[in-house]
Amino acid sequence: MSQPSSLSEHFDYIIIGAGSAGCLLANRLSANPDVNVLLLEAGKKDNYFWIPIPIGYLFTINNPRTDWCYKTQPDPGLNGRSLNYARGKVLGGCSSINAMIYMRGQPRDYNEWASLGNPGWDFNSVLPYFKKSENYIHGADDVHGDQGELRIEERRVNWEILEAWRDAAEQTGIPKVADFNRGDNFGNSYFQVNQHNGVRQNTNKAFLKPVRHRPNLTVITEAHVKKLILEKTDKGKRATGVELHIKGSAVSKINARREVILSAGSIGSPQLLQVSGIGPAKLLQKYQVPLQHHLPGVGANLQDHLQIRMMFKVHNTVTMNQRANSLLGKARMGLEYLLFRSGPLTMAPSQLGAFARSDDSYETPNIEWHVQPLSLDKFGEPLHSFPAITPSVCNLRPTSRGHVHILSPDMNNQPEIKLNYLSTAEDQKVAADSMRFTRRIMSADALRPYQPEEWRPGSSIESDENLIKAAGDLGTTIFHPVGTCKMGNDEYAVVDEQLRVHGIEGLRIIDASIMPTITSGNTNAPTIMIAEKAADMIIKCQN
Ligand SMILES: Cc1cc2nc3c(=O)[nH]c(=O)nc-3n(C[C@H](O)[C@H](O)[C@H](O)COP(=O)(O)OP(=O)(O)OC[C@H]3O[C@@H](n4cnc5c(N)ncnc54)[C@H](O)[C@@H]3O)c2cc1C
Repeated sequence: MSQPSSLSEHFDYIIIGAGSAGCLLANRLSANPDVNVLLLEAGKKDNYFWIPIPIGYLFTINNPRTDWCYKTQPDPGLNGRSLNYARGKVLGGCSSINAMIYMRGQPRDYNEWASLGNPGWDFNSVLPYFKKSENYIHGADDVHGDQGELRIEERRVNWEILEAWRDAAEQTGIPKVADFNRGDNFGNSYFQVNQHNGVRQNTNKAFLKPVRHRPNLTVITEAHVKKLILEKTDKGKRATGVELHIKGSAVSKINARREVILSAGSIGSPQLLQVSGIGPAKLLQKYQVPLQHHLPGVGANLQDHLQIRMMFKVHNTVTMNQRANSLLGKARMGLEYLLFRSGPLTMAPSQLGAFARSDDSYETPNIEWHVQPLSLDKFGEPLHSFPAITPSVCNLRPTSRGHVHILSPDMNNQPEIKLNYLSTAEDQKVAADSMRFTRRIMSADALRPYQPEEWRPGSSIESDENLIKAAGDLGTTIFHPVGTCKMGNDEYAVVDEQLRVHGIEGLRIIDASIMPTITSGNTNAPTIMIAEKAADMIIKCQN
């Protein structure tokens, strides 16, 4: 994986971005020794201290070593606030800095993709691709696989208060389940995580490291792709390579014999298309980017999960707040991790989850809780000194839509990321209803011994109007942007069901940006499934 001094040879495939999707693709495509694969990553290697330690999440986001450190536009739905919008900039991409929760979503999500004009993407068709990459700790069965590379394990730490929360959720009508990934995810359970023996397993570790010895696979880090090279053909235009800057190298262009594959994520992929002249004509004209192909949907249709971080003080128990605020507590946590790979340092920040319907009009769960045995005002700030928990709740299928638009033709400049959270009446209603639902759980009998007191937003806030305002004050991203290069065949579709860019030959997009609608859960496993299925499509084209 050293930086090559000469790249004069032509590669068959160039994959842009070594994130959740890119690492898997590099593995699958280079399995054929007759094709040469080049994987380019703008970030550095993943040998940073905090990446393998699960709780290190708190130190890798908002850190330029590992994060692009984007900021969203001030959002009216968030009462004018803008958010730090973390995206991994390192081998493994977001899988190196994410919260490791393994969640597929619901069959209805994929059936909806198929019904939107994407044959082959219904749940029964995608299930084998979830299973293929999976190494499930409890072994294979009808929905799980154990022959893949991606390890899925159980949590390694218990909190009394979370056990009580599970009982309280059950008393409120949300049953205990063992595994969220068997059906429509209704119920409450501990999240399963992408860890191996208590250590984060990013997609570099899972898919790339085991095959990096392959002579037909070249991986270059600190290689920032600046533009796609497009050439005129009889039929139209074809992507034939990339312009890029590689740290310490004079190489500035590389060609691809077969395909260029864009896996730069939901922010990077539309930005790179736009600076290359593929996107909404008016936007490109505004920034003097010569138009190569008008595709109005590039950067549109941005969707994300907004979590409303309600916080409750608790009594008569220990939460992470006390442990992190005491020297002895910190030392104990460090020792437990070093000796047993257990304890709070193995923690994904959210350990416990629940899925339910905010009202009966939804056929399947439309809200998800991430319950944390800790509280803090903002990511990056210290934990509160008092014991508290954060049962944050999000709308799984928001109807608000935003966009990613370039603000300059230069890839070094961040694009405009506008979410428009809570901008529809439906999203506002779900926000208010889900906050009331959280209060019902918190006042159930099982939590009574812990005397919960609502710290944020505060129990005096009751009307719809005030709850929606509070959702805007407390709401923050769960870092699930998708949809900015959506798959389909309508005017705003960017790729077809084979993930080929409409109107441009030799160019596919394979990452979270192709989701037409957001999945009803966390987005890493669906992105890995997308890459697995797309790899299969590409390999079939070779024959
Ligand atoms: C803080 C955080 C927590 C999250 N928690 C969870 C969770 O617990 N569970 C879950 O399911 N999902 C979670 N997610 C979301 C999930 O990780 C993402 O949906 C998924 O990783 C997206 O994968 P991707 O391949 O589309 O993009 P990425 O993984 O972002 O990969 C894109 C890669 O492309 C590189 N790149 C971008 N532009 C260029 C360029 N011009 N040249 C070269 N390289 C480029 C980037 O550096 C990056 O490595 C979280 C995300 C974050 C940020």
